[in-house]
Amino acid sequence: MLYTTILFDLDHTLLDSHASEAAAFDVTMRSVGIDPTPEVFAAYQGLNQALWRQVEAGELSPNDVKVLRFEQLLERVGARADPVEMGATFVGGLADHGELYDGASQLLADLAVSCRLALITNGIGQVQRGRLDRLGLADVFEVVSISGEMGTSKPGRAIFDATLDALGIDDRSSVVMIGDSLSSDIQGGINAGVDTIWFNPFDDVRADGVAPTHTISELGAVPGIVADVEPTRRQGFDVS
Ligand SMILES: [Mg+2]
Repeated sequence: MLYTTILFDLDHTLLDSHASEAAAFDVTMRSVGIDPTPEVFAAYQGLNQALWRQVEAGELSPNDVKVLRFEQLLERVGARADPVEMGATFVGGLADHGELYDGASQLLADLAVSCRLALITNGIGQVQRGRLDRLGLADVFEVVSISGEMGTSKPGRAIFDATLDALGIDDRSSVVMIGDSLSSDIQGGINAGVDTIWFNPFDDVRADGVAPTHTISELGAVPGIVADVEPTRRQGFDVS
């Protein structure tokens, strides 16, 4: 085994967060009588991404994002509604919608046989806990670290240190972080001194200066890397 402890990201790595977000957005906008057109959703996504970049930079807390994204969106579309109420509706919608990617559940079950699993996610506690409960993942991870509950976010080292301390792990050479984001997951893993697996299903161009240990385009490749064997030699995993 190359790795015996695996740190997972949740959004866009295990969970189809795009579908979750789209459904929650729809419910939220209709609740205040605004038509959730593709243009309005695109505007929201741009504002939301910019706010989460500020969280990564330590300029905002995840909880600030809840209201700010709707405050800014209402200003952008020139509509009047209560952004606090919208934020609450949206948070409930995020927890209530979205499924795991195909194969993610089986992957976690397979890995749990020989590895310790933990989750490190930049997000709001209520949203992420709601999702983990609904998807039956609450007990899959030995430790669940949510930035909104801990007051510290990826890519900072502190959330990794807290997670590994909770696992009682000193030797980080057999630990690997898996995630879709170079700026939070991969840079965070590098900051924490652990190896990294970049999940890059859409063949994004890698940013300069952030070098993952491994890069994969599908989750089925994870067991081969963790066990240090060619994926094709494992039985029961279709990696084509
Ligand atoms: Mg992610």
